[in-house]
Amino acid sequence: MAEQQTLDCPFCGKHIIKIMYYHKLKITRSCRGSGTTRTATSFSKDRVDFLTGCSNCGRSKEEVEKEYNNQYKKPSKEDIIKRLREAGLDPSKLK
Ligand SMILES: [Zn+2]
Repeated sequence: MAEQQTLDCPFCGKHIIKIMYYHKLKITRSCRGSGTTRTATSFSKDRVDFLTGCSNCGRSKEEVEKEYNNQYKKPSKEDIIKRLREAGLDPSKLK
């Protein structure tokens, strides 16, 4: 599932950057064991494609995308710990 959205330009703040936003997809797999069928569910990641640059300040879509990633995609400490836990690792053992 995808939908087109409009974002603010990270450089000049104009609400004219068009993106295609792909929602998380639920992926269901069946694992057949001996006599039992288990279902494993996982999610794909949200994905964003930048469709346009900024016609107001003239930045290319590559520049806008890079700036967005710099501003918003930095994982927080909590995210890192959560990811470690989900991967079955103990965050307290890591330094
Ligand atoms: Zn701009």
